[in-house]
Order: sequence, then C-alpha cells, then structure tokens
Amino acid sequence: MPRYSALALLRARFQGARYWKPLWTGRTLKAAYDVVVVGAGGHGLATAFHLARDHGLKVAVLERRLVGYGNVGRNTTILRSNYLLPENHYFYEDSLRRWETLSRDLNYNVMYSPRGVVDLCLSDGDMITASRRGNAMRLAGIDSELMELDALERFAPELAPRRSRRFPIVGALVQRRGGTARHDAVAWGYARGATALGVDIIEDCEVQGLCTEAGVATGVETSKGLVRANRVVFATAGHTGMVGAMLGVPLPIETHLLQAMVTEPIKPLINSVLIYVHPGHGETYVLQSDRGGVVMGGYLDGFPSYTREGQWHRLEEVVQGAADLLPEIGGLRILRQWAGTNDMTMDGSPIMDRVKYDNVFLNAGWCYGGFKTIPASGAACATLVATGLAPDIARGFRLSRFATGHLLDERGGGPFPVRL
Ligand SMILES: Cc1cc2nc3c(=O)[nH]c(=O)nc-3n(C[C@H](O)[C@H](O)[C@H](O)COP(=O)(O)OP(=O)(O)OC[C@H]3O[C@@H](n4cnc5c(N)ncnc54)[C@H](O)[C@@H]3O)c2cc1C
Repeated sequence: MPRYSALALLRARFQGARYWKPLWTGRTLKAAYDVVVVGAGGHGLATAFHLARDHGLKVAVLERRLVGYGNVGRNTTILRSNYLLPENHYFYEDSLRRWETLSRDLNYNVMYSPRGVVDLCLSDGDMITASRRGNAMRLAGIDSELMELDALERFAPELAPRRSRRFPIVGALVQRRGGTARHDAVAWGYARGATALGVDIIEDCEVQGLCTEAGVATGVETSKGLVRANRVVFATAGHTGMVGAMLGVPLPIETHLLQAMVTEPIKPLINSVLIYVHPGHGETYVLQSDRGGVVMGGYLDGFPSYTREGQWHRLEEVVQGAADLLPEIGGLRILRQWAGTNDMTMDGSPIMDRVKYDNVFLNAGWCYGGFKTIPASGAACATLVATGLAPDIARGFRLSRFATGHLLDERGGGPFPVRL
C-alpha cells in the first residue's frame, strides 16, 4: 500500500478543494419560472429533472433546508415492485426498470444493487397470500418466485432455514431484481443532473404561501420573497398536511414516524433484503449496507408526529425480530438509530394530481415506500404538469378517489400478514 507524508496529504486536501466543483449551489432565485417545485427530496428533484429534460421547461426547486435533508436521505433504500394492485404494480415496475439504468441516465453512480427482496412466509396461510401476490405480479409480466425451503436455502443461505429457530420459515416470495441503491447518491445525482439542465435549486428557501388571482395560482411566497410561476408542484413528503393547511384543503394524509437503525460493520453475512412479520414483535426487515452495517427497520411508530426521533419500544421490537431471524447479529452494537416523517395516505397508495387549482399539483402520499418510486414518479409527475394529463400508469393516483370511495387499498405493500 502506498504511504503518503502528512505534507502530501495536506497538499492534496487543498488542491482537491481548489478543483472541487459544487454540484448544485451558486444559483440565484429568479423572479419567474414556468414551474416551481416545492421540496428538494427525491420526488421534487426527479420531477424537476424530467420537466427540464423531457419538456424543456424553466424550473426552480425551492427547499426549506438542504438537498437530501428529508426522507430521501433517511430511508433504508429498499427497491422492489412486488405490489398487488394493477394501479400500483405497473407503476412500481416502471420505477424498478428505471433503476436498472438510472446511473447511466444521470451519469452518476446510484449504486443500484439487485440483491433480491425476500418476503418470508411463516405459515401455509402466508404462502397462500404470497402466491396470490406473486401470481398477480406474473400476470403483469413482473418477475416473482414463490420458493419453498430448498430453493430458499439456495437463494439465501444466510437463513439456513432448516436450522431450529423460535418459529418455522416455510418459504418466501422472492423478487430477484429487487434490492437497494445508495439514497444520498440518488438525491445528488438528480440535483446534479437537473442543475446541468438549467434548473435552479434554491436551498434555505421555505415556501410559506401560494399566490392566486381569479382562481389561478400565480406563484409562491417564500422566505426569500415572491416567485412567480405558471405551475406549482408540491413534493413535500412528511409535510403534506401543512401544505393542505396552506391551501385550505383537508388532505387524507397523516405524518407518521418510521425509524431505522444500523449496527457496527461486520463481514458480508446477509446477501439479500429479508422481510417478515415476527409473530411476537411485528414487521421486521434486515439488510446489510455496503459498509457492512446491518440495517434494520419495521413498522411505523403508531401515532402522528414530526419529531424524527422514534420511540424506544419500536426499536426494541425491531431488534428482537431481527435477532430471532439471524441469531448471529444478536451481539452486535447498534451505532445509529434515526427516524423520518412519512406521508401516510389512508389507503397506502400515493397521490399525484391537481389540488384545488388547475395549475397546482401534488406529488405526495408515498407512505413508507417512496424511495423506490422516485424515478417513475419524476417522469410521470413531469408529464402531468407539462401536458395536463397523467400517464396511464399514474392515472389511479387521483385525489378524488378518497371522495368517491375508489380506494387503492394496497395489500401488497408489506410482508405477510399484510398491513398498511
Ligand atoms: C426510516 C425510513 C425508512 C424508509 N425505507 C424505505 C425503503 O426502504 N424503500 C422505500 O421505497 N421507501 C422508504 N422510505 C420512504 C421514503 O423515504 C419516502 O417515501 C420518500 O423519500 C419521500 O419522498 P421524498 O424523497 O421526495 O421526500 P423528502 O426527502 O422528505 O423531501 C421533501 C422535502 O420537502 C421539503 N419541504 C417541506 N416543506 C417545505 C416547504 N414549505 N418549503 C420548501 N421545502 C419544503 C423538506 O425539507 C424535504 O427536503 C423510508 C422512510 C423512512 C423514514
């Protein structure tokens, strides 16, 4: 291994600083745009990227804090398209296909890792539910495999499923193309790509109100002054209820906490993403990060909150569930725990539609599954905003479904038994 003197390292540090180019800062807010996108999370940035690239529009992204400060940088990065309802599984599959080429499209490595997503079954009843979801996916041309023990043991040897444990594993629904990507890289990649296309990304710029004239939105009031816009898109996951209050429209969304945690790094142990419902502790998922840490998560904390801290009892349940599944990790130390604010809709499916005004749009309600949809959501929302018509795969995400009762009560959103 080459050795460097302290002086050489110091010199390299300062030379690096001189040549390092910021990816998206340095833009000033202009007086007017074709479209203002509120929120520089994954959905806002991807929408802006596609508005500029596919529709040639002049766009600003206004972010009250920093690029990637929200849930796009706080999730556990799981990608999959194993949803049950047609309104969802075609959309999530479109997204998964886009993940496969995203690094090339953005010319930025988002570290897509198709390591497989394994929904474990603990009973024959789970297997029946799994086969229903798997068959629905296959009918739509989406890969899924129902594996019994032998096949599962070959696919995920870390489970050694025949080993005696506190509960039996009888099989799994596996999606091999599912996996993970690096979350910050996704925000950075879209921010860089959008900037290169002329999008102004303005940080530290909170949108505080909507300007309207004769029933049409004309712009937004921000902490940096008024900005005129022909169209406004709200992509403010975790804060959509506040947007509803700002617009004077009650939205069928609550903000709930979801937490996750990561252990000290260990050698590679877990090859895929393992998801299951522990009979005593509830939903648990486990994966290993590229740095070796074991990442764990579970269900929501159970009551609305904006604190981003998470309750101790949920952490305990998740860790117990994970250690029962993989006893080898029981002695590891947890290095970090964190939580994010999730936009929970009442049917578990998102909203991509106009809200209150013809030229104001909502890209929201992604619940705890919105990281995986960023590529499809950006493209679809840009089409809706630019042309006025949502593409077929996003037509089901209308806000009016909550008034008419045509809910997309997604039963494929989690492991078995399915919860929302
Ligand atoms: C612990 C955890 C684990 C998760 N795991 C997964 C997973 O494995 N797979 C998956 O698919 N999904 C997962 N999710 C869900 C996923 O992270 C979210 O659904 C998704 O990131 C939300 O969209 P976003 O990236 O646009 O949101 P955000 O990154 O939250 O972007 C919204 C932005 O809007 C800004 N904003 C809000 N109000 C204003 C305003 N008034 N003015 C200006 N800016 C504003 C916020 O500061 C924020 O930056 C997880 C979430 C959490 C918390």
